[in-house]
Amino acid sequence: MKVRQLFDQDTWTYTYLLWDEQTKEAAIIDSVKEKFSRDAKYIKDLGLKLKYSLETHVHADHVTASGQLRDEFGCETAVHKDGGAKCADLQIEEGKVFTLGVQEIKTIHTPGHTNGDVTYAIDGALFTGDALLIRACGRTDFQQGSSEQLYHSIEKLFAFSDDTIVYPGHDYDGFTESTIGEEKALNPRLGNNKSKEEFMSIMDNMNLPKPKRIDVALPGNLACGNQ
Ligand code: FE
Repeated sequence: MKVRQLFDQDTWTYTYLLWDEQTKEAAIIDSVKEKFSRDAKYIKDLGLKLKYSLETHVHADHVTASGQLRDEFGCETAVHKDGGAKCADLQIEEGKVFTLGVQEIKTIHTPGHTNGDVTYAIDGALFTGDALLIRACGRTDFQQGSSEQLYHSIEKLFAFSDDTIVYPGHDYDGFTESTIGEEKALNPRLGNNKSKEEFMSIMDNMNLPKPKRIDVALPGNLACGNQ
């Protein structure tokens, strides 16, 4: 599977474009509305057939381009069924498999940042959205988040082999990727065998400000960006 990481500098969001070289079938993960033109041109330039527009969750910090991508390429849009985005074609859950040629993208339900977070798994890599970030993880204080659930979700991810690449949904320090082994050892919130209680107490006492764009982003994403 070919993987390209794309960046939105206004919201620190990573978008991923995945494709099968044989068939040119492609999927995009976590697109950003303001980057629709860039990504549509890139997909066309590479001669790809966009089959899926996937979301790791209903984002509070940026609006998706999934509706525009569906209009442009006829792809199917997908989000976890608990996310509440009824506009999406596919209301997915744990175990859902997407195929690009003979290659597979598997869905792992990893709630906790929101109740509808998923991680997408390909051979050797995980696209973790905001469930697991580099040396961090997504906040758990809104959108039906739960620090206890997130702990168990990350346990599921830590069961992958140490050399599995972690591609996060964001990074605010300029890092682009990590590995399961690195996060298991070095993640300050739950690495180095921190207990669930220690993790929950860190997450439940962060007192973070409300995301700047949440009042626009949530309704926008529940409508697949078409509003
Ligand atoms: Fe998020």
